[in-house]
Amino acid sequence: MKNTFDYIIAGGGCAGLSLAYSLLNSSLKNQSILIIDLDSKKSNDRTWCYWTEQPTHFDHIVHRSWSKLAFADDKGELVSEISPLRYEMIKGIDFYDYMWSEISKHPNVEFLNARISDIGCNDEQAYVVVGQVRFFAKKVFDSCFNLGRLQSIARNDYHFQLQHFLGWVIETKENCFTSDVATIMDFRTEQEGQTRFFYVLPLSQNKALVEFTIFSSNLLNKNNYEKTIKKYLNEQLNIQDYTVKEEEYGIIPMTDAPFPEHPSPHIIPIGIKGNGAKPTTGYAFIRIQEQVKEITTQLEQNYEQIRLKSSKQRFKFYDTLLLHILEYNGAKSKYIFSRLFRHNPFKIILSFLDERTSIWNEMSIFASLPFIPFLKALYQTKIKTRKNKRYKELISSQNQRA
Ligand SMILES: Cc1cc2nc3c(=O)[nH]c(=O)nc-3n(C[C@H](O)[C@H](O)[C@H](O)COP(=O)(O)OP(=O)(O)OC[C@H]3O[C@@H](n4cnc5c(N)ncnc54)[C@H](O)[C@@H]3O)c2cc1C
Repeated sequence: MKNTFDYIIAGGGCAGLSLAYSLLNSSLKNQSILIIDLDSKKSNDRTWCYWTEQPTHFDHIVHRSWSKLAFADDKGELVSEISPLRYEMIKGIDFYDYMWSEISKHPNVEFLNARISDIGCNDEQAYVVVGQVRFFAKKVFDSCFNLGRLQSIARNDYHFQLQHFLGWVIETKENCFTSDVATIMDFRTEQEGQTRFFYVLPLSQNKALVEFTIFSSNLLNKNNYEKTIKKYLNEQLNIQDYTVKEEEYGIIPMTDAPFPEHPSPHIIPIGIKGNGAKPTTGYAFIRIQEQVKEITTQLEQNYEQIRLKSSKQRFKFYDTLLLHILEYNGAKSKYIFSRLFRHNPFKIILSFLDERTSIWNEMSIFASLPFIPFLKALYQTKIKTRKNKRYKELISSQNQRA
């Protein structure tokens, strides 16, 4: 194998493969590309859901699509039509298979199934180290994300929460699910001072992905997720007789820490590592597609330094306030989400989460929310931006007193 390429894609997951696909569908399709991943992506390691009203490159591999979404809490279930938006699900394995069926048509793309131990650069180019070998390229696109490293950067000066979840695809003997409604948040579970909800995606009338999701600083033992899923199935969905067909576990960082945007003009972080996930929801799939499109366009136009568009300041600010509440006042979040979903059209909420609303829409959303937790978050976040080193202790002691 040669050791110099035009581009190296470090990590062939969602962002890496999406970028390769995008480059191969552009005027750069003849550039030499090396994709390196320690996993050859032969299993269904996750499912991706997103909402859109536009056609995507992946329409033919969409596994399931819903035009109605539900929110539930102790007051009951609220169902809303979201068309022209569609809430869609893609299975990881279908995505990887499709990407590789397209990428492998191009002999200028090589794949190396190996662990990367280092990525660095000099003035002219970047390099990637695998074992004893160093591979060079004009640009390295890096999606090898390390949760522990981000956590240690973010922990002191920024908000940092983990979105962690265990999901089961279950099959029941009886028909138990309304197959055209996807439940994006069901808060009918003990909150334990955190944000805890269920996510239920019916795949048919007797099959569904049932996922227990938590926003918190620490993970649970597997046993605790399982116990809570069983209780929810039993007590809320009234399902006793079922078989678990598949399992999905994941952790997504939720933070306002600015990830290193451009370590060098030759190394471009992409995907989760390149700020691809919305800090307050963890949704990343569509943002990653937009990110790789932007990178491709800038490369086609010979930009020396890739500059990815970041969120508007006001959306960053809203994310910071909500992250603050999730981190320091988690017990309030069930009420906040309840007000959000019960007092605003679902389509506006989705548009808000996509950062596409107008200021007027946002004012109307905020008017529907309890203002005391937000005022408190505003005040406490101000202390934080003054870089008070004792921030965490200060807020905790204030919260204890309140
Ligand atoms: C279980 C799960 C479900 C999710 N569901 C959704 C969803 O429904 N909707 C949504 O919008 N987002 C979802 N997300 C969030 C986000 O879309 C995914 O995490 C997405 O895969 C991020 O893409 P990425 O390319 O940044 O990371 P990945 O897809 O994780 O790709 C990174 C790749 O780098 C490789 N790698 C890492 N370190 C090394 C190394 N040292 N050497 C070589 N290779 C390395 C990994 O093997 C991996 O293939 C989900 C995340 C998870 C974990």
